[in-house]
Amino acid sequence: MLKNNHQDIPVFGSLMSDEEVILSSLRKEPVSANVAYQLLKDQLIDEGNARQNLATFCQTYMEPEVTQLMAETMEKNAIDKSEYPQTAEIEQACVNILSDLWQAPKNLKALGTSTVGSSEACMLAGLAMKFNWRNQREERGLSCLDKKPNLVISSGYQVCWEKFCVYWDIELREVPMDSKHLSLDIEKTMDYVDEYTIGIVGILGITYTGKFDNIETLNERVEVYNKTHEHQLVIHVDGASGGMFTPFVNPDHVWDFRLKNVVSINTSGHKYGLVYPGIGWVVWRDEAYLPKELIFEVSYLGGSMPTMAINFSRSASQIIGQYYNFYRFGFNGYRDIHLRTQEVAMTIAKKIEETGLFEMYNTGENIPIVCYALKKDSQVKWTLYDLADRLQMRGWQVPAYPLPKDLDEVVIQRIVCRADLGKNRGTAFINDFNQSLKELEEAHVLYHEQQENTTHGFTH
Ligand SMILES: *Cc1c(COP(=O)(O)O)cnc(C)c1O
Repeated sequence: MLKNNHQDIPVFGSLMSDEEVILSSLRKEPVSANVAYQLLKDQLIDEGNARQNLATFCQTYMEPEVTQLMAETMEKNAIDKSEYPQTAEIEQACVNILSDLWQAPKNLKALGTSTVGSSEACMLAGLAMKFNWRNQREERGLSCLDKKPNLVISSGYQVCWEKFCVYWDIELREVPMDSKHLSLDIEKTMDYVDEYTIGIVGILGITYTGKFDNIETLNERVEVYNKTHEHQLVIHVDGASGGMFTPFVNPDHVWDFRLKNVVSINTSGHKYGLVYPGIGWVVWRDEAYLPKELIFEVSYLGGSMPTMAINFSRSASQIIGQYYNFYRFGFNGYRDIHLRTQEVAMTIAKKIEETGLFEMYNTGENIPIVCYALKKDSQVKWTLYDLADRLQMRGWQVPAYPLPKDLDEVVIQRIVCRADLGKNRGTAFINDFNQSLKELEEAHVLYHEQQENTTHGFTH
């Protein structure tokens, strides 16, 4: 990447290399490209190794061919459909592939768009529910102004839903979780619904624990409600992590458009879609669920093309990266990659369970994450925060954090396995994990005095 230009001065012989890299105002004169490249790259050296970051669902590896392709297409503006019609077609192809993967009924007209990530996708899906709710009420001659509309979701929601509700002035109605319900408590959910409910969100992969909401049963309850009410309830599925995992690994698990009341689904292309951040997707089962107010026309080959997005200009390279993966891996490619990742997760879970110290919350059975708490009777002097520190000394980032509201006395640790954590790296992790336990038991360790209520880096 770095050109060997003999006219350039040697980086570490340059005066520039003595100066601060992080500036608060612009320097007057430019510096040479080789110096700028090397010094900025050096500045990022101690950020931690992304491949050892087991705290995130976001992808940390793509093949060299697609990395090159993405670098070569960075200048393409995803919104400029008439300048880049092939790119627009590739985006549409991704939407079609996802609609098909999520089993949108063929007799309907599924629509969708790329986004920067699931957060933007959830904003759009939430707005569509809000506008549809309002239009429905207006048709029934009812006011929309006498009370704030609400959204029903389990308290294990990802922060983007809180943002959505704050930004668009909606009441967030949380169905609490408890030790018996580590996902949406279906028996209680309908108690939170009223005429002002714009929709219910089911989560396919709760960020904290990886648990799945039971969307099939939720759909049955909604069906009963809709038969007996004029107000028609809808379900949106937040499949940020599971939406591009489950269809490949457990295709018989019914959570998607096979369920009549699931009207929209989002996913993060940069999670199990295997693309670098940021790319997300949202798809509606039929155009009827995407209110016209949310659609804006942009010019496209002399005509116009509908778009729905909060952002305007951004690079299309992530979209092209997503399509590369679809095109190259195919269904079986994704399945094989995901199955191997799951196997690594299950092996790690088994080894951790075998220590006898931990209560397991997830052993990789739905999405490949491993989640555990210290057993109440484990009788160890250290906490999961101490263990996180020990692992960090070996470069592994494995966060510890309390569960959400009502369960927050439980501190858990979460390992997110991604495709690039192969079997060999998984074994290396287990060895480091066991070594860390040994050190905590034996060595002079500074223990945390008390359980800290800290969280770091688990929300993605
Ligand atoms: C990660 C995540 C999000 C946010 O996704 P981004 O793509 O990072 O914006 C939303 N919901 C759930 C359930 C998630 O796991």
